[in-house]
Amino acid sequence: MVRETFHKSLRHLLEPIISLKYGIDLLVNEEIIWFYPRVSVIIADWPEAATYCLTYKSPSSNIPCHFCLVKRENLANINLKPDDIMPRTHENMSYNYHQNSGKTVCIEPILNFFWEIP
Ligand SMILES: [Zn+2]
Repeated sequence: MVRETFHKSLRHLLEPIISLKYGIDLLVNEEIIWFYPRVSVIIADWPEAATYCLTYKSPSSNIPCHFCLVKRENLANINLKPDDIMPRTHENMSYNYHQNSGKTVCIEPILNFFWEIP
């Protein structure tokens, strides 16, 4: 319930930004400048990132990283090749959520608000 409430509050907070499909005109130093607001980066520590990404918070989960789908036993493997490291994307996490296979990629069964942002 806490996770779901958090993501619903994000929707409430960021909805004005997302609904501005064509940007806004702001008067800055007597000049009108067109802006297109967007969220590009969220700075967070590991537990906060897990909250935003809805990955399992436990470091002992099978896939604990919120960036990629590398299994826990391979996180320190320096011999992994780039093809062995599949990133977590909005698309593949949303797909697993909607297929009810979120457990296989260690994400909570909650709709992530960020998947809807273009
Ligand atoms: Zn990773």
